[in-house]
Amino acid sequence: MTGTNLNEKSLQSISDDLKKNLGQSGDKASQFPLTRMECESELFLQAQSQLDEVAKSMGLEKHLHERLRYPKRAMIVSIPVKMDDKSVKSFVGYRVQHDVTLGPAKGGIRFHPSVNLGEVAALAMLMTWKCALMGLPYGGAKGGINCKPWNLSIGENERLTRRYTSEIINLIGPDKDIPAPDMYTNEQTMAWIMDTYSINVGYTVPSVVTGKPVSIGGSLGRQEATGRGVAHCTKRANQDFLKLTSHPRTVIQGFGNVGSITAKMLYESDYQIIAVSDVFGGIYNKNGLDIHKLFQHVQKTGKVEGFEGSQPVSNEALLELDCDILIPAALGNQITQENVSKIQTKLIVEGANGPVNPEADSYLKKNNVIVVPDILANAGGVTVSYFEWVQGLMHLLWSENEVNKRLEQLMDKACDEVFKLSLDRNIRLRMAALQIGISRLAEAKQLRGLYP
Ligand code: NAD
Repeated sequence: MTGTNLNEKSLQSISDDLKKNLGQSGDKASQFPLTRMECESELFLQAQSQLDEVAKSMGLEKHLHERLRYPKRAMIVSIPVKMDDKSVKSFVGYRVQHDVTLGPAKGGIRFHPSVNLGEVAALAMLMTWKCALMGLPYGGAKGGINCKPWNLSIGENERLTRRYTSEIINLIGPDKDIPAPDMYTNEQTMAWIMDTYSINVGYTVPSVVTGKPVSIGGSLGRQEATGRGVAHCTKRANQDFLKLTSHPRTVIQGFGNVGSITAKMLYESDYQIIAVSDVFGGIYNKNGLDIHKLFQHVQKTGKVEGFEGSQPVSNEALLELDCDILIPAALGNQITQENVSKIQTKLIVEGANGPVNPEADSYLKKNNVIVVPDILANAGGVTVSYFEWVQGLMHLLWSENEVNKRLEQLMDKACDEVFKLSLDRNIRLRMAALQIGISRLAEAKQLRGLYP
């Protein structure tokens, strides 16, 4: 079986497969009667049902489908930390590897109070599809600690990070599983993980993480890579679908790593950024915000609020502004059945992971709003992480230009493939992206066979 064969299966044979797989009643319970796992949170079930929908549409064999529905392995750890006031507090941390068929597991680590096994397992599954879609030799993973990072001092954050690393140390490694930054973790977090790992094995291992500072083996261009990729996909989707030439009116939720760099790149390409927000609230100017000046304002005040010449807008209202392009680049589950009917945009580019829930996605499809899915739109980060990993393993030093050029090439290739499949089959971009990723993985699993 090849990816092409999978995609070209006739409707009749797909329906035959399904009948065989689903049994007479055709319900999910009879398809997978025994498998259950503790990670079955709402978000995980959403990720699983997305896989089920794609598996059904491409006629994926039942045994491959079932193997992809659950993570390969998951670890839950308790992390005791000495706090600044001399008390000891225990946190809960997770690392989940969804799949390792194509190579070592790869995925970010987030610090947030929403972190739980289900969230991490769902995001690990998305990472598998994302890496396969981009053609990277990785499986998908994710990790995190349930905490309120904004309440931790730097010392507490460092001790938490180092103890978490030591608890999951048997799972990670440059050939096993390579963490990267995600929400509320950054270059410094990666430096602490790399140092803790290196001290434990007795020598320096830069390639155990990506997204490190450049001075200890990070790649030039990594910090901007996700935002650069989101901006690139936005321009490609505009060129290929919307075809707006003069200053598309763009709204961006989130002004952290992804949101701020996306805003800067699009602003420098003459897009009119009419609203942005962060956790404290949003700002709006119908004539466009000066993003270079906004960076200076955020550096001074720590928030976008109060920017000269802008008016305040709540995060809820920001999503509902009349615009050409909406880029949610903060949290998951932001566009749902609650607010989707009020969304007034032509194109949504998912900078964050999972910002549009499945009900909202179906509504948007019916209303001809184009959605560029997360596994394509924000794949720039993992792509340059891959470049960083390769440079580390081979002791290479690429220039920033070289990194950006290679990123653009891989993003363009993925956009070409996804846009073409979507147009050829008249399916959503999300379905096309997932089909490409999942069929590559299914082919690899089929070729490797099942041990023993
Ligand atoms: P970050 O921590 O740098 O920034 C998050 C931003 O969201 C901040 O501006 C924060 O103030 C804002 N925010 C938090 N809660 C909010 C709320 N309720 N309403 C509006 N804004 C809110 O994180 P990031 O690295 O920019 O990641 C953002 C998203 O992108 C996450 O979903 C992450 O999983 C995804 N992502 C990040 C990368 C990466 O390389 N950093 C790669 C792929 C996907």
